[in-house]
Amino acid sequence: MQPKDKLQQYIEQGIYGAPELKKEERKQYLGQFRERVIKVLTQEQLQDSRYVDGMIQALQDPRAHSLYVRTQENNGESQTLSLLTSEAQKSQIPFSFVDGNTYIGDIAVVLAAKDAIEEKNIYIDPSPLPLEFYQNQGKTLCKTCYQEIQKKYPEYQHAFTEAGFWKKLFGFQCPITSRHQ
Ligand SMILES: [Zn+2]
Repeated sequence: MQPKDKLQQYIEQGIYGAPELKKEERKQYLGQFRERVIKVLTQEQLQDSRYVDGMIQALQDPRAHSLYVRTQENNGESQTLSLLTSEAQKSQIPFSFVDGNTYIGDIAVVLAAKDAIEEKNIYIDPSPLPLEFYQNQGKTLCKTCYQEIQKKYPEYQHAFTEAGFWKKLFGFQCPITSRHQ
């Protein structure tokens, strides 16, 4: 083979993707082509409600067509997975479970479109709030924690209340326990 032919081949593979690469790609995205993927969640992200909520939001994407969920033995995330599938049901997006052992990589959930969309960023952009704050939105915080929100995440200030004098007097405990060891 001429070097030029080889170069041409690389270029074509880059554009259309080699058949073998496509096969690998589908193994990674739970049977889907990368070009159809809207958003994914990794196994690790399943344990973080900021990412899971991001995926639930992504279900509202008008391009969302189907959800693929990877099941694995000892998954330990069954609660999260049933939350996702019930949200998919609410949004009338059909979901299917796929056998974890058939696929490679660490992707656990794939939200796919019907056609090729070539989405650039298939990863969830999570809320910038630290997880513990994120999980305690709507709660009352101690002065120190509240001020931290005011300073670092002012756009989330409305999501919290600062403990007043009376709360403190009656044995108030700040829910951000990791900051109060
Ligand atoms: Zn606190």
